[in-house]
Amino acid sequence: MDFAIPAALAPKLDQIDRLLTDHVIPAEAEVLTRGFAASEPLLRELRAKVKAAGLWGPQIPTDTGGMGLDLVAHGLVSERLGRSPLGHYVFGAQAPDAGNIEVLHKYGTAEQKARWLAPLAAGDIRSCFSMTEPDSPGSNPVILTTTAVKDGDDYIIDGHKWFTTGADGAAFAIVMAVTNPEAPKHARASMIIVPVETPGFELVRNIPIMGDAGAGWASHGEIRYQGVRVPQANRLGPEGAGFLIAQERLGPGRIHHCMRWIGICERVFDTMCARAAKRKIDDEKTLATRQIIQAWVAEARAEIDAARLMVLHAAWTIEHKGFAVARDQVSLIKFHVSDVMMRLIDRAIQVHGALGVTSDTVLAHYYVHERGARIYDGPDEVHKMVVAKRILDRYAKAGGAK
Ligand SMILES: Cc1cc2nc3c(=O)[nH]c(=O)nc-3n(C[C@H](O)[C@H](O)[C@H](O)COP(=O)(O)OP(=O)(O)OC[C@H]3O[C@@H](n4cnc5c(N)ncnc54)[C@H](O)[C@@H]3O)c2cc1C
Repeated sequence: MDFAIPAALAPKLDQIDRLLTDHVIPAEAEVLTRGFAASEPLLRELRAKVKAAGLWGPQIPTDTGGMGLDLVAHGLVSERLGRSPLGHYVFGAQAPDAGNIEVLHKYGTAEQKARWLAPLAAGDIRSCFSMTEPDSPGSNPVILTTTAVKDGDDYIIDGHKWFTTGADGAAFAIVMAVTNPEAPKHARASMIIVPVETPGFELVRNIPIMGDAGAGWASHGEIRYQGVRVPQANRLGPEGAGFLIAQERLGPGRIHHCMRWIGICERVFDTMCARAAKRKIDDEKTLATRQIIQAWVAEARAEIDAARLMVLHAAWTIEHKGFAVARDQVSLIKFHVSDVMMRLIDRAIQVHGALGVTSDTVLAHYYVHERGARIYDGPDEVHKMVVAKRILDRYAKAGGAK
């Protein structure tokens, strides 16, 4: 197992670091204050710089205009991009578009690719992924109430979704709907492309996240689908394969998220240490001289380093042995890294005192908008349960002796 940075990637990582430091991080205050939608011109300028440097779409296949990095290499890029709340968006690697690009690339027909994948991968349009419903458990998504019923060559979709990230201003949604209600639970739903201008598609609202409804890509929409008619040709992959495709999308997606969270940890760690080193608590001494702060710094360093290696190990296992072998590792990193990140953000806020809860540093933004990490892509409790069950089953099968 080798996590050395490949020679060809090293200069690109340096370039990414420079773009982040010189252009992206300085733009944060304006974008986070004015909001995402109002900052589109500035974000377009930043994206143009990234494209000119040949760094667009680290995870997008080269035949679709991206860098085509493998999972470990993309993990290393994602870690850098996570240092800014704008990083992934500016480099064309943001969820949910990244996952939708992956699905369209693998399952899209030639027509779907020309109409949706090409402009999405180029960053000319945005998309969203509409699976979770307010009235059914997202943690057990096989229980969906949204239906897509055949009518001639079309589907008619009816349902109520929420937490459709980036629905505001998206060109289309990939909707998960029940097409085969009589099939076994995991074969009931399909993914269907719904252009947002289709009659019956209603973006009810951007849901406020701890008081911030956001806008554009940085928002989470509640959507009603009422008699939405789309051609059956808009289905992605075989009928009933929705969950299978969703699972494939989530595996690499969790690596991307976890490495992004490691990047957030590094940014928060820097912010916390810089404050501790500077903030005087009497005429001479700084916060950095206090033992409890020193313990937080040392613990955080150990936790970030350990979490990072866990994620790279999981990415390496997926690349070399396949997702099935890495299942436990992927569950472990999902709940562990989100926990490390949230504990660190909380401590960094504490070190900053009142300043920590203002919007004058990036900490409050992360505190509000990354809390969801412990809920989406499978709540932490579900991952713990699943991984513990598999471990204990192995003991049970070995008669308790394993
Ligand atoms: C910021 C954010 C962005 C999101 N983006 C999207 C998106 O783009 N598209 C989309 O479709 N969805 C999205 N989601 C929704 C997300 O996928 C769901 O919130 C998640 O799957 C959990 O579903 P739920 O909210 O219905 O919680 P529930 O299923 O109601 O679960 C609630 C809680 O119950 C506990 N729990 C559940 N099951 C178990 C169990 N078996 N054992 C023990 N405890 C359990 C967990 O603590 C869990 O948090 C997003 C959510 C957030 C917060």
